[in-house]
Amino acid sequence: MKALLLEDKGQLSIREMPLPVPSKDEVLLKVSHCSICRTDAKMFRSGHRDLIMPRVMGHEISAFNPENGKRFAVWPGRSCGNCPLCKKGLENLCVNMKITGFHRDGGFAEYISVLRSSLLEVPDEIPSELVCFAELLASGLNAVEQQEIVPGEKILIVGAGPAGILAGLAFHFSKTKVSIMDKDPLKIEKCGVFSKQTGIEIKNDFGDMLFDMTLNAAPGTGVFGECVKRLKPGGTLYFFSGISWDGIIPVSVLNEVHYRQLKICGVYGNTRKQMSEALEIISGNREIFKELIEKKLKLEDVASAMDEVLSGTKFKYIVEF
Ligand SMILES: [Zn+2]
Ligand SMILES: [Zn+2]
Repeated sequence: MKALLLEDKGQLSIREMPLPVPSKDEVLLKVSHCSICRTDAKMFRSGHRDLIMPRVMGHEISAFNPENGKRFAVWPGRSCGNCPLCKKGLENLCVNMKITGFHRDGGFAEYISVLRSSLLEVPDEIPSELVCFAELLASGLNAVEQQEIVPGEKILIVGAGPAGILAGLAFHFSKTKVSIMDKDPLKIEKCGVFSKQTGIEIKNDFGDMLFDMTLNAAPGTGVFGECVKRLKPGGTLYFFSGISWDGIIPVSVLNEVHYRQLKICGVYGNTRKQMSEALEIISGNREIFKELIEKKLKLEDVASAMDEVLSGTKFKYIVEF
């Protein structure tokens, strides 16, 4: 089969690889679409805590069983089911976690072998390319589910790239009033379509407005600082995007957490339940999610698209097989 292999940082090449051989708990699927996550681009440039190379990346996967045509979203986690965190329902934090596209080969290949228990059936009405958005939307739902949100509370998402939009949609469809902020006027214009369809306010400045919750949807330390600054006393910052390794958060920002008694709530990955909730949301709002497609491309074009993905100025690039 044809696969895109990350051999080392910055080295992606198309390879002919043997078909994966599924174990007794797994099934061999044909990949129909796999979208590029900004994390894929970051791993391509600078590696990742959970990445083992050489590796076929890709964790936003839409696939089908070639024997019967059944379509699936793939939950990229492989949790043990036995550790205390799995038993608490926090399978995304499993101490024995293996992630598809990080520890194991992912969706930038024609075929993938997946645990049966990681498959989520796709409702008939969802086009296969939109299934790719379930993973990131589920991570947004993971943020939503971290605490009880009082009706009427408002969240500010900082960063209007695909992660910011999908996290914003997760809160929007969970009945929270969402605003999105980004400094780039071109991105504000690009996102206008989501404002029209959802009423989400997307601007480059919110004056001196403060929010009950904020979420950082870009890796910069400045974005994190903005999220701290924009909180009301006692508010919650969802720490959604990891910060670049060379970043330094000033003490003046951290002291705000102390003086105004802010809460910082880490959010990493998602659970199968959240992915299945994400599929339901996509199913009922297909027209909105279609707008998030920047471009469909071939496996051969992924390496040259990485810089644009990393820039955060585009919507989603989807590899179509
Ligand atoms: Zn991702
Ligand atoms: Zn576990």
